[in-house]
Amino acid sequence: MSESFRESSAQSDTQSKSQNKSKIFKPPVHFADLSAEERTEKVVSMKLPKFRAKQIATHYYRHLSVEPESFTDFPAGARSRISDEFFPELITPEAVRKADGGTTVKTLWKLRDGSLVESVLMRYPQRATLCVSSQVGCAMACPFCATGKLGLSRNMSAGEILEQVRIAARQMRDGLIAGGEGRLSNIVFMGMGEPMSNYRNVLSAIRQISALPDEGFGISARNITVSTVGIVPGIRKLAAEHIPVRLAVSLHAPDDKLRDELVPMNKHFNISQVLNVAHDYYLSSGRRVSIEYALMKDINDSAKQAKLLAKRLNHYGDDWVHVNPIPLNPVEGSKWTASKPEDEQAFIDILHRAGIAATMRDTRGSDIDGACGQLAAKNKPESREEEK
Ligand code: SAH
Repeated sequence: MSESFRESSAQSDTQSKSQNKSKIFKPPVHFADLSAEERTEKVVSMKLPKFRAKQIATHYYRHLSVEPESFTDFPAGARSRISDEFFPELITPEAVRKADGGTTVKTLWKLRDGSLVESVLMRYPQRATLCVSSQVGCAMACPFCATGKLGLSRNMSAGEILEQVRIAARQMRDGLIAGGEGRLSNIVFMGMGEPMSNYRNVLSAIRQISALPDEGFGISARNITVSTVGIVPGIRKLAAEHIPVRLAVSLHAPDDKLRDELVPMNKHFNISQVLNVAHDYYLSSGRRVSIEYALMKDINDSAKQAKLLAKRLNHYGDDWVHVNPIPLNPVEGSKWTASKPEDEQAFIDILHRAGIAATMRDTRGSDIDGACGQLAAKNKPESREEEK
């Protein structure tokens, strides 16, 4: 099968399974969805001088503001028009849950079409990380993942992705998160969705997160992680952008037979193909690749599997990956459970003995259904019905 055929078949899978193109909701166009030229055109069409576009960018990226009534450098008469034209409210909080003394905050966001997505802010002494969603649902259908069970509704716009970041950055700046004033320092695309299946909007969001004000929020690309099931053409494209974001690959199994089951996209892009391109990404970016591995009892957590994983990773040489095992966060109604702590430790010890960097991923927020689509899944109308 040629690569281009693979790419188009992988993408059309994503589109066709749960989307009916003619009915897909399109969120209103937001400032963050427009190029610099489009912003200028819009400003001119509003009969304002061109330099106003740059001023709006300063308010958005530097001041994290979408409230033109506070834009004192604008004529009062123009302010409400700017709000209408550039800042439709794309996401509103539907539910907020806190854990870890308020340093973990999970927000369920309602989008304009009623869709629900989530983000999780995790504050540590030296950093604050926001886990963002990039799609409403997900087409990848990994059976252990709550979002995978929802199927894909639609891609999120760049504006919808970026607003999660802006609001969290502002909460940190304004001291609204336990621990006082601070700075949002890290972004991980590990919320709902497969970022590589919404490439254009995710890339636009990455550029706007990482560019310095007044073109972006100034969160270093090195502090942004894109997590993927392993869509090979997407990883290749990302490498060619030469933006030093970290790549994380959701491997979860060391052999194709098991991975076909746990990560169905493996039938399109198998482990060797995914590791080959991940290693290429390491070579071209100079950034160590993260390998995600959710440890599931009696499924993928044996010593034999740890050894096979180590062998496959060492095939490419030293020090190019960092394995992040995480105990499975069991999803209601799924047959899989988390590994025993002693088996987790044994798994990590084998990787270490084989010379592979590995640290258990933080399970912050698991008591509030942190990440992995669990809160949104519970709030879906049909599951609310079931809970009654
Ligand atoms: N689609 C992207 C991002 C999704 S979520 C991807 O698959 O990489 C980020 C990570 O959480 C992925 O590694 C995903 O496999 C993992 N994950 C999903 N459900 C989980 C669960 N119930 N327990 C532990 N990890 C889970």
